[in-house]
Amino acid sequence: MHKYHIMAPGPTELPPSVLAAGGQPILHHRSLEFRSQFAEVCENLKHVFLTNQPVLTLSAGGTGGMESCIVNFSDPGETLLVITGGVFGERWAKIAESLGRKVIRIDVPWGQPVDPQIVAIELLQNPQTVLVLGTLSETSTGVEHPISQIARLVACTDALFAVDAISGLAVCEFRMDEWEVDVAIAGTQKGLMSPPGLSLVALSDKALKTLKKKNGPKFYWSYDSALKSLMTDKYPDSPWTPNVSLILQLRQALTMILDEGLENVWIRHQLLAKATREGILAMGLQLFNSNSPSAAVTVIKRPEGVESSAITKHMLNDWGISIVNGQGKMKGEVFRIGHIGYCDRTDVLMTLAALEAVLWDLHYPVILGSGVSGAQNVFLTLKQREIQCLTY
Ligand code: PMP
Repeated sequence: MHKYHIMAPGPTELPPSVLAAGGQPILHHRSLEFRSQFAEVCENLKHVFLTNQPVLTLSAGGTGGMESCIVNFSDPGETLLVITGGVFGERWAKIAESLGRKVIRIDVPWGQPVDPQIVAIELLQNPQTVLVLGTLSETSTGVEHPISQIARLVACTDALFAVDAISGLAVCEFRMDEWEVDVAIAGTQKGLMSPPGLSLVALSDKALKTLKKKNGPKFYWSYDSALKSLMTDKYPDSPWTPNVSLILQLRQALTMILDEGLENVWIRHQLLAKATREGILAMGLQLFNSNSPSAAVTVIKRPEGVESSAITKHMLNDWGISIVNGQGKMKGEVFRIGHIGYCDRTDVLMTLAALEAVLWDLHYPVILGSGVSGAQNVFLTLKQREIQCLTY
């Protein structure tokens, strides 16, 4: 018997009811039966992004959502300010460059959050900027960036601020309208507890107005087409055939998230992340970053003399737990534990216990039980509200 657990920062495990929703017969996408359920999804997405504006549902992975944002809100040759500092910040820059945009990078040291003052200076020095691109939760380094502060700066300019919230939505605090973020992109395979394959794009009023002024080439990615289908009838529609099954699964997951309460979901993730970090430190390991850690993922330096690929391999082969290696230039230097979406205290304790055993097998001098008790110390000293968030 081999039982499989995902503790990666996406894709994540799915609640049984979300899995079951994917097994329903395919509905025709123009049928009233489907469109009434899609209407529920569109409405509930607004409650998760905390916006009153429309949220587009694209049949694409997260990277597709990022590309669609660049093609809709900038034209070739225009200037984009990109906050890098990890694989996904760098991905924004690569997509923009491949589409012929002029990219100015704000190079953030990997493992650090961006300093908003540097963004302010770059905005002053580059008034031609049409789009600022940032990341809520940088999955490769485990950093959460100060999105609300950057949004406030960009709001004073004519530029739009687009946020990759792919691993951050329904994990980290994020308030689209209140913070004045213009474009926020999520993927279904992380905090939204659904399979990979949909990209959700929330748009501000400023973004909707800017859309009309952009003429760059696009077809499948056209937000104008998507918005027309979404808004022209009583029930929303899609310009192309959408991923019907995924939308039905997302409907179930969104219901669960809103039943739990969005703020409770954020607190649960913060506590799982804190317990994971404490467990790791109690084992004598080091975190890659301690400054502004994301609630989505814990990034751990490999111990001296132990390969990170050996750790991930043994975790999977011996214990059935999928954790992941570093990405980009961090590959081989760190390993990452995700605690996203359908994840609870038991998952964290199980992962730490297995990690102790793996490190023991790899001759790292770990004290068995140290990591588990580090996490238990967090779970056993909670405030009343926190207990409710973990035991819901
Ligand atoms: N941005 C971030 C922050 C991510 O974590 C990921 C996926 N790991 C992506 C973008 C890319 O998403 P996808 O793999 O669905 O294209």
